[in-house]
Amino acid sequence: MYKAKAYSAASATSSMASTTIPRRDATENDVQIEILFCGICHSDLHSVRNEWSEFMPTEYPIVPGHEIVGRVTKVGSAVTKFKPGDLAAVGCMVDSDGTCPECRAGFENFCPNMVLTFNSSDKHLGGVTYGGYSESIVVDQRFVLRVPSNLNLAGTAPLLCAGITTYSPMRRWGVANGKKVGVVGLGGLGHMAVKLAHAFGAHVVVFTTSPNKKEDALRLGADEVVVSRNADEMQKHVESFDFILDAVSADHDINAYINLLRRDGNLTIVGAPPKPLGVSAFGLIMRRRSFSGSNIGGIAETQEMLDFCGKHNITADVEVIPIQKVDEAYERLLKSDVKYRFSIDMASLKSE
Ligand code: NAP
Ligand code: ZN
Repeated sequence: MYKAKAYSAASATSSMASTTIPRRDATENDVQIEILFCGICHSDLHSVRNEWSEFMPTEYPIVPGHEIVGRVTKVGSAVTKFKPGDLAAVGCMVDSDGTCPECRAGFENFCPNMVLTFNSSDKHLGGVTYGGYSESIVVDQRFVLRVPSNLNLAGTAPLLCAGITTYSPMRRWGVANGKKVGVVGLGGLGHMAVKLAHAFGAHVVVFTTSPNKKEDALRLGADEVVVSRNADEMQKHVESFDFILDAVSADHDINAYINLLRRDGNLTIVGAPPKPLGVSAFGLIMRRRSFSGSNIGGIAETQEMLDFCGKHNITADVEVIPIQKVDEAYERLLKSDVKYRFSIDMASLKSE
C-alpha cells in the first residue's frame, strides 16, 4: 500500500479539500496510472452531496472522479495490455465478477458485482473505492482502456463517462443516417451526444433551457435548436422523432418529449435526477412509444467508442481547471454554466 494525494469531501455539506488516500501496490494484473486529467461529471456532484441516498448512499470521505486519463507508471507481472509510459484511461468501473451472464455478454456495467470507480466496496483494501480526483490510481488491466494517440488528453477524459453513456444507447437504438434524433440538455453528456449523433449521420435537434447555448449547439453538430420553454417551438416537432436522449440532471417534464416521438419512437433517459419522473401512460400507449434507461456501457464498447472518437477526432469541449476550483465548478454545474465539461488538470494537485 502507498499514499496518494487526492481531493475529498468529508460530508454532504463540506467543500472539497486536499487529503491523502491509500492505494494498493500493483498486484500481478494491475496497472498503476499517474492521473493527468479527470473530468467532472454531474454524478460526482450528486454523490458528493448524497443526492442519491435512496439508491447508492455516499460513504464519507468521498473522492469522486470517473473520467480518468493518465500515463502508466507500473504494471503487474501478468499485465500484457500495457507497459510503463503508455497512455491509459479508466471510466466508471474498476472491477466486476467476470463470470456472470452480463459479464460474459460484455455488459460489465450491468454485473451485479460491478465495482464503481468511487463509493463502491473496495475488496482489496476494505472501505470504499476512491476515484480520479487523485494523483494516481491502481486498476485491474481488464478495466483499463487504450487512448487513441491523436486526441487531446484534457478533452479525452470526459469520453470515459459522458462519451460512453451517450454512445451506448445511441448504438442500441440505431442512431444513424436518416434518423431524427433529439438531445435534451446541453451539458457534459448532452454535448457529447450531439457530437456523436452528428458523426453517426443523424439529423440532430438540441433541446435546451439556455437560449445562450444556441450557437454553440449548432457548432457542436446540431441541425436545429429548440428552446424547450417555448411551447410553439416544441409543437413544431410533435410526433417526429425516431429517438430522443434525455441527459438532464434535474426534475423536468418528460412527457413534453415523449409527445415528440413518432410511432415506435424511443426516449432513453441517461440523466439521473434523484426524484421519480411522472410518465403519462397515454403518451406511450397512443403511439406504441417506449421509454427506457441506460447506464454507461461495457468495457469492449467503451474501447470501441474511444477508437471511434480517435478515428473521427472527437473529444469533449473542455474548460481545464485546477483541482482547487472544483467547488466553484460544482456551483456552475448547478447553474447549467458549463461549456461543456470541466476537466481537472491533475498537475495542480502537486502544490497541495
Ligand atoms: P451537466 O453537465 O450538469 O448537464 C446537465 C444539463 O441539463 C444542463 O447543462 C442543462 O442543459 C440541463 N438542465 C439542468 N437543470 C435543468 C432543469 N431544471 N430543467 C431542464 N434542464 C436542465 O450534467 P452531466 O454531467 O451531463 O450529467 C447529466 C445527468 O446524467 C446527471 O444526472 C448525471 O448524474 C447523469 N449521468 C448518468 C449516467 C448514466 O450512466 N446513466 C452517466 C453519467 C451521468 P441546458 O442548459 O441545455 O438546458
Ligand atoms: Zn459520469
